[in-house]
Amino acid sequence: MKVLLVGEYREGQLLESCFELEAFADELKAERATLLVGSADACQKLRGKVYFADAADYLEYNPDLHKRLVLEAAARENADHIVFSHSAYGWDLAPRVAAALKAGQVSDIIAVRDGKFEVGCLNGKMRRLVAPATAKAVLTLQPGAFTLKNPGPPEPRIEKLDVEKTASPVNFLGYEPAEKKEVDLTKAAIIVGAGRGIGKQENLAVISALAEALHAEVGASRPVVDAGWLDHSRQVGSTGQVVSPKLYLACGISGATQHLTGMRKSGFIVAINKDKEAPISELADVLVIADLIPFAAALTARLKKP
Ligand SMILES: Cc1cc2nc3c(=O)[nH]c(=O)nc-3n(C[C@H](O)[C@H](O)[C@H](O)COP(=O)(O)OP(=O)(O)OC[C@H]3O[C@@H](n4cnc5c(N)ncnc54)[C@H](O)[C@@H]3O)c2cc1C
Repeated sequence: MKVLLVGEYREGQLLESCFELEAFADELKAERATLLVGSADACQKLRGKVYFADAADYLEYNPDLHKRLVLEAAARENADHIVFSHSAYGWDLAPRVAAALKAGQVSDIIAVRDGKFEVGCLNGKMRRLVAPATAKAVLTLQPGAFTLKNPGPPEPRIEKLDVEKTASPVNFLGYEPAEKKEVDLTKAAIIVGAGRGIGKQENLAVISALAEALHAEVGASRPVVDAGWLDHSRQVGSTGQVVSPKLYLACGISGATQHLTGMRKSGFIVAINKDKEAPISELADVLVIADLIPFAAALTARLKKP
């Protein structure tokens, strides 16, 4: 099996997600080549065959030009799968490539099992195995789902790639920084994450008191943010922040893959949940089976005891 990995490059830097694509190819035991629209320097960090298109010519993003480059590299490789990260770049480009090839697309892959691709369903509560129905397929990988083990030294075999530069109705104007975040959870040593299990907004006071007693920041799962109880800057997960505190307390959080993506690199995970079967129990170092709010209040009182 052959895969073409479509690497990402932003503001002059190779993105770490390129190594996640490599890890995925390793897991598939596939022969791989990477396409990078970036710089010659950035290509030096990659492994194996690399098709290099200069971002100075093709811009860091332009859907028409980048699609042409992907299609050209995929044709040269006769790739069975064309693989993107499930990022803003992948969301925009992957379906364009799939449509051009009349290929099926499997999005937001979490794992590979029995040659099939595992993806979340029912709002992340369950997982299902998917096999593309077309001979060639376009795939996107959930950020953080694949980690490169024993990468070895980079040893790229670089081949310059060029395609015809026809006019495009889309112009790349640059990047606009996101609104200033209320809190940067990535720097927190301890995070107390509030999930839907807190029950109601008023109970946030109990979670905040526990965080204060632990000198921690308050994080949240998406339902808590969607309900407007906390600012989005506190959301942990695939569409929130990716954090790696020394201690993460998951309070009333079930452990959906999208949440785990954001906190699985935490040093020590304590989950407080009334359900001993909650998926977070698979990842947690300690699972406390308890009614959250009375337990959190008691723990805070104990921590505050001189
Ligand atoms: C494209 C996409 C992106 C997403 N991005 C994110 C993201 O970035 N971050 C994120 O978090 N989610 C994200 N989600 C949502 C995700 O799939 C889950 O729906 C969400 O993480 C569930 O949040 P939760 O664990 O707080 O709620 P639930 O899954 O409802 O879990 C609540 C938990 O609380 C426990 N509980 C209830 N009452 C009590 C009690 N009294 N005492 C103790 N425990 C109790 C329950 O047993 C349960 O385990 C995304 C979903 C999609 C489709």
